[in-house]
Amino acid sequence: MKIAIISPAGAMHRYTGSFKKPIHYAPLTLTTIAGILSKYDIETQIYDETIEAIPKDIEADMIIITVITGTAPRSYAYGDYYRSRGIKVVMGGVHPSILPQEAKAHCDSVLIGLGEVVIPKMLIDFKNKDLKAFYKDDRSQPWSFSLPDRTLLPKKKYITNSSLEASRGCTNDCSFCAVNAMHDKHYYTKDLKVLVEEIEALDTKGILFVDVNLVADRDFAIRLFKALIPLKKWWFGLVTADVCNDDELFNLMVKSGCKGLLIGFESISEKGLQTINKYKNHVTDYSELMKKMHSHGISINGTFVFGTDEDKLDVFDRTVEMVQKLKIDLPRYSILTPFPGTKLYDQLLSENRITDDNWAMFDVQHVVHQPKHMTRDQLTEGFIKAWRDTYSNSGIIKRIFRPSILFPLAVMTNQAYRHYADRLETFDRNRMIDNSDILRWSE
Ligand code: SF4
Repeated sequence: MKIAIISPAGAMHRYTGSFKKPIHYAPLTLTTIAGILSKYDIETQIYDETIEAIPKDIEADMIIITVITGTAPRSYAYGDYYRSRGIKVVMGGVHPSILPQEAKAHCDSVLIGLGEVVIPKMLIDFKNKDLKAFYKDDRSQPWSFSLPDRTLLPKKKYITNSSLEASRGCTNDCSFCAVNAMHDKHYYTKDLKVLVEEIEALDTKGILFVDVNLVADRDFAIRLFKALIPLKKWWFGLVTADVCNDDELFNLMVKSGCKGLLIGFESISEKGLQTINKYKNHVTDYSELMKKMHSHGISINGTFVFGTDEDKLDVFDRTVEMVQKLKIDLPRYSILTPFPGTKLYDQLLSENRITDDNWAMFDVQHVVHQPKHMTRDQLTEGFIKAWRDTYSNSGIIKRIFRPSILFPLAVMTNQAYRHYADRLETFDRNRMIDNSDILRWSE
């Protein structure tokens, strides 16, 4: 049997567009699904549209499309086209899991929940010519993480292919987060023996955990960091800001080879944090956090969100000022986005404040809601200016210039984000929602 797995990309990410190699790591979803399929007698192909075009003439018995909200319209266009060629199309991922009926209109079968649970059932039915419309993981079945099959992705296109996961889900309750819409606050952890073997098989010094929160379960994080120490790797990952307040956890994290962390600071105002339920953060801790991280050789990719109900017109300049003062190595800005299934979506919908109905615009870089204290245009303009000011030459130099073994990486990644900031404005709504290239395939 031949199966192709495809991951469509939004306009900003397509064909390495705005995201240059230094900030572009190998996605884990495709290789994880390929890992599940590798247990069966299946010839698997994978296509990541962030690096290459997805072929019109894929030869396969089935195409599995992995879908997030921002790629849903494009995924649906692919689904419609491949079905018109007689190929069975299956969709899975966070968006179809939350809106399965919507996805079903563009595919033969929808996978709801964990791929490791639902894909094997779907394959058996497909083989027996009894493919069902929906496969739902009821969370009661024991399962284990699929080991990614990394052999199918080209190595040279990404900054690293050594991306992996130690856990899935998060126990926190941030109102905008699609992770909980998908996993309902479940936190799954990988068997550490299996994880250690997986890491030992990677031929790179640096590894990247893509987990949304590596420290959601403190006991697991402690065991994980202890297991990493003898491996002598450098690792990068995502944690919450409170990791700095726990000396035992922090010291083990440093000892285990942590070199870079993504931390969602989200807002420079305590009230702003409260409006999005980010109760793990306290603005007064940010300065100490950054000093502590830098003094232990850890670089910070800090993310901030604009458009909360506390944000007024001065939020952009004040945020950039704080980012510069804190010397955040690699800042990233996004616009508050009400993803379906989240508390934020329900709130803004009930207040009649969701202003766009094309999911392609739900990519955290475009305004799709009515902010409280500014117009939508002011939010867009302030957001673009914040990116530009942060990634001006002087902005970059002020933040990253200090002795660090990661200095060359800081230069490369900052230049890549500068390229991104320069192009941001060109991705207007027309460009974002345009899928005419695929729609023309059927003519
Ligand atoms: S801490 Fe991060 S992953 Fe967890 S709910 Fe909040 S935003 Fe989502």
